[in-house]
Parts: sequence; structure tokens; C-alpha cells
Amino acid sequence: MQVLVLSDIHGNLPALQAVLLDAGAVDQVWCLGDVVGYGPYPNECIELLRKQPDLVCLLGNHDAAVIGMIPLQTFNQDARLSVQWTSATLRHSNRAWLESLPEVEVHEPFTLVHGSPRNPVWEYLLDPGAASINFEYFETDYCFVGHTHLPIQFTFTQPHRPARWSIPPVDQETKLKPRVIINPGSVGQPRDHDPRAAYALLDTAGLTVRYKRVKYDIESVQQRILAENLPERHALRLIEGW
Ligand code: ZN
Repeated sequence: MQVLVLSDIHGNLPALQAVLLDAGAVDQVWCLGDVVGYGPYPNECIELLRKQPDLVCLLGNHDAAVIGMIPLQTFNQDARLSVQWTSATLRHSNRAWLESLPEVEVHEPFTLVHGSPRNPVWEYLLDPGAASINFEYFETDYCFVGHTHLPIQFTFTQPHRPARWSIPPVDQETKLKPRVIINPGSVGQPRDHDPRAAYALLDTAGLTVRYKRVKYDIESVQQRILAENLPERHALRLIEGW
């Protein structure tokens, strides 16, 4: 089975469209959360995502904030403005869909969360130490996470030892060997200084993953962000990929 694994779309419709086109036909789509927040197309992104085959979508911290599950004070000023704008802009049916999203999904041999297995909505898995502890919090061989917007893999070494980290090469098949935590990067707001939308293709039969990047029309998103009076910072960062 071919699975398109994507995360952190953040209301960026042109980036999502480019990813879906680039990925081609797949059997399932797994989205690791933060469909909305920052970007100016929350309704359009949810509606396009919901049309995808056998969609599994997790709840992200921005999704949770938009539906009032997380206090706004936990976000910085610019992120908070985006959350408030998104909440006011969201259509009723799309809000109800966000409210239905789970925090954890298990599809053997894969666990899916937004942040981390230990704290599915909030924890950022940025370093090998935190990754190492998190191997105790899921039972499957593999775990997909998003949230940091950084494509990376953490491989288990030994208990109480830091995990081994690697940045998988783009467009090359990587064979998965137990146990690994896999982050495909962000569709709508990459933060690894590569402004192209990031995603991954998973082959569940061969247990391989292929990291992908695709260009999209950043300027049109920036214009829409400014036209909606959303923070300029969220427009500027897209071109630099931070
Ligand atoms: Zn995010």
C-alpha cells in the first residue's frame, strides 16, 4: 500500500495542492495534524484534505486551539492572531470535523501522532534525548510525528541512550528498520530553510519511506496573508523556509 504522509499544512492551499499533484495516486493519506493556523485558506485545506482516499488525520495543537481546546495564552502574539482569525473564518462543518480528530492512531506497525507519543498534541521532538525517552511511550515498530516542521528520523539505539538522528535524503528510498520515529516535515510552513513543501511517501509492503520536496506558488499565499490582515511575519517566513 502506498501512503502519502503529510503534516503541518497550516492553511496553505497552494502547498497542499502541489503536494497532492506531486505525490500522484496513493491508497491512503495520513495527515499528522495542524491542518489550520498561520495560513489564509483553512476551509479550503480541510475540504480538499477530506476528499482524499482513506484519510487518517490527527489533531494538532493549532487545530486544538482553533476549536477552543487549548488556551490562547499558550501561543505567541502572532500565532494567537492567526488562531483567532481562523476560528472566526472556519465554516461550521469544518469546525465539527476538527472536533472529531483523534490524538493518537495506531495502524500496525505504525503509531501516528502530531507532537510525540508521550504528549501527542504538545511535545516537540527536536533532540535525540527526548526522542529516546519517547520510544517507551509507543509499542509499534514505527511512529510518525509532525509538529517541529523539520524532516528527520530518530532511530532507537539502547535504553537510556540518545537516539541516533538522521536527515534522510530527498527522493531516495530509505528502508525502515525497527524502531524509528519519522517526521516528514511540513507542507505549509517548512522550517529547515528549504521553502519547498515537504512530505513523505510510505510503502507499507516494502517498509520504505521516500522524502519529497515540491515547489509551489509562495507569492500567492503571501499576498492572501497580507490581504486578510494576518501577521506579515507569517508571509515573510515562507520564502526563507523558517
Ligand atoms: Zn505546526
